[in-house]
Amino acid sequence: MEKIDALVIGAGAVGLAVGRALAQAGHETIVVERELAIGQGVSSRNSEVIHAGLYYTPGSNKARLCVRGKQLLYELCAARGVSHAQPGKLIVATDESQHAALKSLEAKGGANGVAVMWLTADEARALEPSLFCTAALLSPSTGIVDSHGFMVALQGDLENAGGIVALESRVLGADFTHPDGAVVTVQSGDAVTELQAKIVVNAASLHSTHLARQFRGLAPEHVPHEHYAKGSYYSLAGKSPFRHLIYPAPDDAWLGVHLTLDLGGQAKFGPDLEWLHGKDPDAIDYSVDLRRADGFYEAVRRYWPGLPDDSLQPSYSGVRPKIYAPGEPAADFRIDGPAVHGMRGLVNLFGIESPGLTSAMAIGEHVTALLDSAQ
Ligand SMILES: Cc1cc2nc3c(=O)[nH]c(=O)nc-3n(C[C@H](O)[C@H](O)[C@H](O)COP(=O)(O)OP(=O)(O)OC[C@H]3O[C@@H](n4cnc5c(N)ncnc54)[C@H](O)[C@@H]3O)c2cc1C
Repeated sequence: MEKIDALVIGAGAVGLAVGRALAQAGHETIVVERELAIGQGVSSRNSEVIHAGLYYTPGSNKARLCVRGKQLLYELCAARGVSHAQPGKLIVATDESQHAALKSLEAKGGANGVAVMWLTADEARALEPSLFCTAALLSPSTGIVDSHGFMVALQGDLENAGGIVALESRVLGADFTHPDGAVVTVQSGDAVTELQAKIVVNAASLHSTHLARQFRGLAPEHVPHEHYAKGSYYSLAGKSPFRHLIYPAPDDAWLGVHLTLDLGGQAKFGPDLEWLHGKDPDAIDYSVDLRRADGFYEAVRRYWPGLPDDSLQPSYSGVRPKIYAPGEPAADFRIDGPAVHGMRGLVNLFGIESPGLTSAMAIGEHVTALLDSAQ
């Protein structure tokens, strides 16, 4: 049986960032990916926003890892020439009842070490004349990134540190009851092989809970229930009148139908929130339901009353790997290491929804420190 030091399951932004960090810390690392290419999962179906770190409870994984991840991501983009921009964002209240939500965000931003500025309606409109609002918060450190370019850069660093990405390699399960390391079963085409690994990081995102249930030795209470929530996007036909990203005041489960810009300045709106009932991530329908358009016009016109009729076109969708049910408070990222579940060398990543792209490199740093300190 082939023996390796570290095996990371999933070559999305998070798996690649964890693999990179492990390889750079001196671990012989393989990242295994079931698809034909890297980044075919949630990492290619999102808003590509570099989040500032405003929304998350101070001290939580989401808060700490987003703020640290943002810094690492901007540094990597600058060092590796990954396309990105820092237009900043406006979070807008469209009636006075939402001012308390903005004040609470301003306070969370302060506690998380993220600079924001309170703007009156006139000050916001001086920046964005097409905007309707009663007040706004300006977050200057929010940006956008080419997520694929980011993942290619992570893969490059992983390989430069001696790591490997193995495509078309699907992990079927693992046995953690062996004293010399986990025995991981991997399927590549028709061939099924076993690998022995001292470290296993489950970064399979939408599949991570299903996969963890195939880990022999891991008690079932250490695997949360999954809940999938789809988010659809509509793109704007024609030129955007906005230079900043525009977000409504947030709800607990999502950030609202926001306006983001791609690196070419084209605007898109979304994602909305649609809880899915099925529990099979391989059966998800990613097509955008045309009947959702009315909800988009209504949501966007609250902050952009001038949105022309017939200007929105269905674009794409993504699905959030949530670990809390509709109506429950938003859960933190779960990064379960040996101290949580007692399995040596195993880290399970659960519920890595937004801001997972922004946080990816900080998650890599955190997982590596967690495993190195446990050895
Ligand atoms: C609609 C939406 C908008 C978002 N917007 C933002 C945003 O603007 N900014 C931000 O910071 N974050 C955002 N996020 C969150 C962010 O996209 C994710 O947190 C991040 O991309 C997750 O990366 P990942 O590597 O964990 O998952 P993925 O990219 O899904 O990677 C997991 C990989 O594991 C592979 N895999 C699964 N099972 C196996 C197996 N058995 N064997 C081998 N490989 C396997 C999959 O094929 C996949 O490639 C958004 C998410 C959604 C859904």
